[in-house]
Amino acid sequence: MFAMFIDEKACRGCQLCLDVCPTKCFVFNEETKKSVVARLGNCIACMSCDYLCPSGAISHQDHHVVKNFYRNIHFSQRMEKFL
Ligand code: SF4
Ligand code: SF4
Repeated sequence: MFAMFIDEKACRGCQLCLDVCPTKCFVFNEETKKSVVARLGNCIACMSCDYLCPSGAISHQDHHVVKNFYRNIHFSQRMEKFL
């Protein structure tokens, strides 16, 4: 089953995942200063958060990757305006 996890110990609270996610899957917990997966059902498995997280704290399970374009920095920059 499709799932997404944040390693709480690894998360440094930078909020990059909130900024990059096009479908608003994350919320920021002001008490713990960590990101939380709040709307997994919104996730389109674009993997942007996984790619950008500086702590490598985000992981996905059972997602279907069609292409690895998101690992190419030039394509990622092109995508930026759509996010
Ligand atoms: S991008 Fe990574 S380190 Fe930054 S808030 Fe999100 S999960 Fe935490
Ligand atoms: S994989 Fe894409 S849609 Fe899913 S939470 Fe990460 S940035 Fe959002």
